[in-house]
Amino acid sequence: MRFYDAVMRGCELAPRQAFGAFVRRDPRQPIAACALGAARLGTGSGLVHSAFPFLRQITACPECDDGDSTELSTIIAHLNDKHRWTREQIALWASQFEPALPGPPRDSDDADSVIGGYERPEAPDELVEEEEQECLP
Ligand SMILES: [Zn+2]
Repeated sequence: MRFYDAVMRGCELAPRQAFGAFVRRDPRQPIAACALGAARLGTGSGLVHSAFPFLRQITACPECDDGDSTELSTIIAHLNDKHRWTREQIALWASQFEPALPGPPRDSDDADSVIGGYERPEAPDELVEEEEQECLP
């Protein structure tokens, strides 16, 4: 599951955005979750850092111009609580840090461009020339 999908799924489970808490349960209101809380709910495991190790990488707040860098998960909480970004905005922004899924390229034309300038070496003659042999008993 991608981080964005986990947050969006968590937003369905917790329709309100929480500030200053992962998850807020109030019996009189629908459950609330901040961006990380939504990701936690969305994964179903509650282990956000295990599901998304990229949250540990160090980066800076896109809003503050103070040059301070800290863990991405801390920035996410900060964007949620201080700058009041929506959870979807946060999920979209954070997704740029998520590594691409491993797997074959979607398009074989892309594979050629990735190789970029690689020239196939000439095959040795003995592999190219087919020996004509007759199958004699
Ligand atoms: Zn900030």
